[in-house]
Amino acid sequence: MSVVDRQEWDVVVVGAGGAGLRAAIEARERGARTAVICKSLFGKAHTVMAEGGIAAAMANANEHDTWQVHFRDTMRGGKFLNQWRMAELHAQEAPDRVWELETWGALFDRTKDGRISQRNFGGHEYPRLAHVGDRTGLELIRTLQQKTVALQQEDFRRTGDHESRLKVFQECTVTRILKDGDRVSGVFAYDRETGRFFVLQAPAVVLATGGIGKSFKVTSNSWEYTGDGHALALLAGAPLLNMEFVQFHPTGMVWPPSVKGILVTESVRGDGGVLRNSEGKRFMFDYVPDVFKEKYAESEEEADRWYEDPDDNRRPPELLPRDEVARAINAEVKAGRGSPHGGVFLDVSTRMPAEVIRRRLPSMYHQFKELADVDITAEAMEVGPTCHYVMGGVAVDSDTAAARGVPGLYAAGEVAGGMHGSNRLGGNSLSDLLVFGRRAGWHAAEYARALADRRPRVDDAQVGTASAEALRPFSAGAEGEAGPPENPYTLHQELQQTMNDLVGIIRREGEMEQALHRLAELRTRARRAGVEGHRQFNPGWHLALDLRNMLLVSECVARAALERTESRGGHTREDHPRMDRAWRNVNLLCALADPAGGLAATDPARGQIRLTRETTDPIRPDLLALFEKEELVKYLAEEELYE
Ligand code: FAD
Repeated sequence: MSVVDRQEWDVVVVGAGGAGLRAAIEARERGARTAVICKSLFGKAHTVMAEGGIAAAMANANEHDTWQVHFRDTMRGGKFLNQWRMAELHAQEAPDRVWELETWGALFDRTKDGRISQRNFGGHEYPRLAHVGDRTGLELIRTLQQKTVALQQEDFRRTGDHESRLKVFQECTVTRILKDGDRVSGVFAYDRETGRFFVLQAPAVVLATGGIGKSFKVTSNSWEYTGDGHALALLAGAPLLNMEFVQFHPTGMVWPPSVKGILVTESVRGDGGVLRNSEGKRFMFDYVPDVFKEKYAESEEEADRWYEDPDDNRRPPELLPRDEVARAINAEVKAGRGSPHGGVFLDVSTRMPAEVIRRRLPSMYHQFKELADVDITAEAMEVGPTCHYVMGGVAVDSDTAAARGVPGLYAAGEVAGGMHGSNRLGGNSLSDLLVFGRRAGWHAAEYARALADRRPRVDDAQVGTASAEALRPFSAGAEGEAGPPENPYTLHQELQQTMNDLVGIIRREGEMEQALHRLAELRTRARRAGVEGHRQFNPGWHLALDLRNMLLVSECVARAALERTESRGGHTREDHPRMDRAWRNVNLLCALADPAGGLAATDPARGQIRLTRETTDPIRPDLLALFEKEELVKYLAEEELYE
C-alpha cells in the first residue's frame, strides 16, 4: 500500500460554500483546530452564483414582518412537511446572521433611510430578501472569506503560522468518510492537481457539499453539484431524508442550447417582471391553487397595484412558490402556447425604465446580452424550468445539525434535508446555510472537545480500501473484468438524460420504474468506467469517481419518488395529481441496502438503496396556533387536527 500523508485536526469541514465557511468560522472561534476542504478554488463555491438575496424577517421594508410570519411562509412553501423545529430556528435566527455579516464587512443595498434593503420573492408575505444587486452570493462568500483570513491573521500573531488553527485545502476532493466503529475518524481525499491521496484525521466532520443537480441534463447548478456529500453520508451509514423533493426553478434560460438551464433570478419577478404565453396572456392567474387563493390577486390591476400598496392589495400570481410556477409554465408549453424555443416569455422591459433594470438586475442584463444577444431592457426573455435545488438531504438533528446514526458527522446547507419540506422558498437557502452552518460548526467543535483523549483512530485498512477504490478507473477493462472499459462522459450524459426524461418535473409510475432499470444498467457499466493517462489533473478520472455519487443519489431520488403516491411541492405525480393529507406526516428515508458490505459487496444490477417510512414529529401546538384552523385543515391529517 502506498504511503498516504496524514494530518490531525479537531473538525474537518467538507465544502467552502456559505455553509462550510460559516461552520468553519464558528468551529475555529469556539477553539477547534479546523480544516476546510473543497473541490473548487477557495472563493469559487456554488454559493457565489446566488443572486436574489438572503431571506430574513428584519422588517426593514415592512414593519409587520416577524419571525412568525417567516416561519408560516416557510411551512406553507414546504407544504407542511418541513422539519418544523428547523423552520422555527431558521426564521428566528436569520436576522442575526445577516446583521452579523454586515459587521464582518458585507455591503448590502440600502433603503432610502439607510437600512438594509429587502426585496420581494415568491411565497414570502413581505419584502424579505437582503441583497446586493443580483450578486448576493458573491458578497456573502467574499465576506466569509474575509472573515476567514482575518482569523488566520489573528492566529499568525499568536502562533507565527497563519494555518495553525484554520486551514483551507482547495481543489481537493473527499471520496470517503473514515470511521472507527460507529464514530467518524476523518476523511480520505485526493488533490485534484497532483492526484496525491491524503487523510485528514478528525473526530468531527461537517458535510457542506451542496446539491445534486449535475445528475439532471437541464440544470442551473455548477460542476461541483454531483451529490458527493449525500453519497458520503450514505456510505458512512447516515440516512437521507425525502430525496424525492427536487426543485425545478421556473425560470432558466432556454436558448441558445449551450446555456440552457442557466438561472434567471426570481428577483426579475420580485421586481415586477410578468410571465406571458405565446398569445400574450398573463397566464399565471389561471394557476393559483385553492390553498393559496385568498393570498393572491385575481386581476392584473390588483396585482400591479400591489407593488405600490402591498397592504391593501394581494400579490401577483407570478410570485407563487416555485413549484406552482414551474408546473404552470410546463403546462402552457405542453398546451402549445410556448415561446419559439420551448419556454414562455418573462418581461421586465415594459415594466421598468431601462436604467432601473440595469441597476437592479445587472447580472441578468449582462447574462442575456452576452449569452443570448437579448437586451432585456427592450425585449422579453424566454424562460423555462431548470433543475435547481434539492430539498432532500442528510437526516439531521434540528438543533445540532448532527447526522442521524453516525456520531461525529454533521451536515449543513443544501446537503442537509428537512428544513424546506417539499419545496424551498427563494432566499431561504442563503439564510439556511448561515443559520445551520453556524450550528453545525458550533456542535462539531463541542463534540470534538468533549471527547478529550477518547478520540477515534483512523484504520489503515479503510485507507487502503479507499485508495484502491479511487484507483480503480485506471485498471478498468483489465483481464477478468466483464466487458470493455466505459467512457465516464458517455455514462454521465446517459444518466442526465435518464433523470431529466424519467424522474423530472412531472413523474409517472412506469417511467420511474424504467429509470430504476436504466440506473441499474448504468451502475453495472460504471463499475468499468475507465480512464487513460495519470493522476495529475485528469478530469476524466474525477468524473469517473463522481459517477458513484451521482448514481447513488439518483437511485434515492427515483426510489423515493416512486414510493410517494401524491403530488406535493417539488414532487409532481401525473398519476397522483393531488396532495394527500395522509402523506403529510410521512418521511421517506434512504439508506444503503447492505451497510455492512458496502457497495463492493452488492451486485450493481440490484438496487443499492433501502427505503423506509417514518412518521414525522407532531408540530408543536404553539407553532400550529400561528395558523388559522381553516388553513390547517387543508394540510393536516384528521388525527393531527384532532390532537
Ligand atoms: P455550496 O456553496 O455549493 O458549496 C459546496 C462546497 O462543497 C464547494 O466548496 C464544493 O467545492 C465543495 N464540495 C462538494 N463536494 C466535495 C467533495 N467531495 N470534496 C470536497 N469538497 C466538496 N439561494 C438563496 O437563498 N438565494 C438566492 O438568491 C439564490 N440564488 C441562486 C442562484 C443560482 C444560479 C443557483 C444555482 C442557486 C441559488 N440559490 C439561492 C441556492 C443557493 O445558492 C445554494 O443552495 C447554496 O449556495 C448552497 O450552499 P452550500 O454552502 O450548501 O453549498
